[in-house]
Amino acid sequence: MSALSELYREIALCRQCEIAKHRTRVVPGEGAEDAGILFIGEAPGWHEDQQGRPFVGPAGLYLDELLASINLKRQQVYIANVIKCRPTGNRDPLPSEIQNCCQWLERQIELIHPRMIVTLGRYSMAMFFSGKTIGKIHGTAQKRDNIIYYAMYHPAAALHQQGLRQTIETDMLKIPSLLAHAESITEAEQPPQQLNMFKD
Ligand code: URA
Repeated sequence: MSALSELYREIALCRQCEIAKHRTRVVPGEGAEDAGILFIGEAPGWHEDQQGRPFVGPAGLYLDELLASINLKRQQVYIANVIKCRPTGNRDPLPSEIQNCCQWLERQIELIHPRMIVTLGRYSMAMFFSGKTIGKIHGTAQKRDNIIYYAMYHPAAALHQQGLRQTIETDMLKIPSLLAHAESITEAEQPPQQLNMFKD
């Protein structure tokens, strides 16, 4: 059994948050264990909770299209979320849920060791780009310890606001060239905010 599959078993046993009681399935994440790119969304929605897989509803179908625009299939990347259980009624994740759950994402990053981490939406952005706003930093990259951090809008936001569609599509198209020219990306002066930002 791979270290990631072992981790999925641990995640499935986690009952730290109240929302674990209401989940149909836990959604640890999926994709290539040696993926070069890790996409991080927010939290499972209804479809993901039913299937135990990330991004399989309308936002996921759109993410598949965005990946296809750079000639990638979801099996070639890794897709995870900040939290692994569906927040009741699709509400935003609570700080306590993020605090409890970020240990799993931290271990996924260590095991996958991607070249690039793409944050999808505000919640994952907040973990790596401290104090920034998505409107300002989407489509820009930072490098730290040889990992490229790249912020994008959440695909669901682009589905709800037609005006963001072009923006998210343009931002996705920049990814291949960022990977090809990683050496020219500025090293961040401060480390990106670490995953333990919500810890005491
Ligand atoms: N939105 C997310 O942030 N993650 C999913 O898995 C699905 C929708």
